[in-house]
Amino acid sequence: MSQEKQIVTRFAPSPTGFLHVGGVRTALYAWAFARKHGGRFILRIEDTDKAREVEGSITHIIESLTWLGIDWDEGVDIGGPHAPYLQSKRLESYKKYANILIEKGYAYPDPYSEEEIAELRLKAEQEKRVFLFRDHRPETIGTWDGTKPLRFKIKEIKESRWHDAVRGELHAGPEALDDFILIKSDGYPTYNFAHIIDDLEMGVTHIMRADEFIASVPKFLALYEALSITPPILVTLPPILGAEGTKKLSKRDGAKDILDYRNEGYVPEALVNFLAFLGWNPGGDKEIMTPREIIEAFSIEKIHKSGAMFNEEKLLWMNKEHIRKQGDEVQLSQIKKFMPQYGDELLKKLRPLIVDRISFYGELLSVEQEEFRLFLERPVPVPEKLIWKDTSKEKTIEYLTNVLTRIQEGSSGTPDEVKSCIMPYADTEGRGNVLWPLRVSLSGKEKSIDPFSLIAYLGKEESLARINSAIGALKA
Ligand code: GLU
Repeated sequence: MSQEKQIVTRFAPSPTGFLHVGGVRTALYAWAFARKHGGRFILRIEDTDKAREVEGSITHIIESLTWLGIDWDEGVDIGGPHAPYLQSKRLESYKKYANILIEKGYAYPDPYSEEEIAELRLKAEQEKRVFLFRDHRPETIGTWDGTKPLRFKIKEIKESRWHDAVRGELHAGPEALDDFILIKSDGYPTYNFAHIIDDLEMGVTHIMRADEFIASVPKFLALYEALSITPPILVTLPPILGAEGTKKLSKRDGAKDILDYRNEGYVPEALVNFLAFLGWNPGGDKEIMTPREIIEAFSIEKIHKSGAMFNEEKLLWMNKEHIRKQGDEVQLSQIKKFMPQYGDELLKKLRPLIVDRISFYGELLSVEQEEFRLFLERPVPVPEKLIWKDTSKEKTIEYLTNVLTRIQEGSSGTPDEVKSCIMPYADTEGRGNVLWPLRVSLSGKEKSIDPFSLIAYLGKEESLARINSAIGALKA
């Protein structure tokens, strides 16, 4: 029986700030692919650019992934067989491979100072030549003492050809190959070097990453070749485009912190669903999927080549669908977060109504003001507002008094029960004549939830008090 190689993917963010949708989507695809094939998923932190590091980023990244339900088998916080998973703690590994490259004649200490390089660059510019380091290699190669940058030596200037699992056959001319820095003068490796060594040591089989790295692949290939490494499978994800169709994302289309979505009361499964479909589609009509279903359906073949447009409307729609799928208790606990001043009993009753009106729970901060505040505050009746069209005051008092008796005598557990004891009367007297003053006396508003629901949710006692108070105001 042939033993299939276990699939290993990784998410390797740099700790340079919060995680936005682009980063999360990369993590999600790598995770879904590993999970689908019973492989391993690694969280590695690429912290070799100390100048760009933002404090707290690692915690933030972990919190974001955890909220979304994306879990890892090895990683910076939990360790694993290839620990450490923080590049700044792996300097020994990079040094080891740097020495191998030096020995093989593939690396040399950069003899130039920054000023000298700037001069060479300027000269090339003046002579209208492309500046390439490989044109300025020193005659004799000194020993590397770690104080100078270490450069990779491109031995063979050639065209590069490679296969990308999404983009297909790709190629780049010899100008894409230049002697690049492996280790900087501060002792830290560059991304170009470090990720190759890490992926090798961690046994990564598939690299899922953004398209900004395509231009550097020829360099990576040269390194793989120099170290006799079989390259992992390269999987380039499509760019995420803003609503304008450009790569510049605004806060509305995904440039925001993923934890803002949590704070605004989005459903994590909805975000996972939305991000999964941002550049991938399993085919078929089914668009609302659980993370489990996404894993089952996930395949690299179905990842799109071209850009995926961030559509906020679609996110809101998906979120609403996922809210509907949540259990009553989960819905309630989310609602409570945004409407803490409402009692449990009332929220339990209002829950279906609330869920129907929102796309994400944070919306309650404004919807609540408009629609639900009336449950907490008894309105002050305004006689002119209570009267429907050209009905008289006296008639309105009569209608309200008759409705009052019906409510008193009838059962008011559900909106339908209330409706069945009021509707026949409203139909004889004219719906507007009866239902308008009833609704306004209950809500104090010209627009609100229907009167039957109001009575059911306010309860008999409170409803009667409000109607009585309206009658009182009309009589005054
Ligand atoms: N550290 C790189 C980044 O933050 C990761 C690229 C990769 O996945 O290889 O974009």
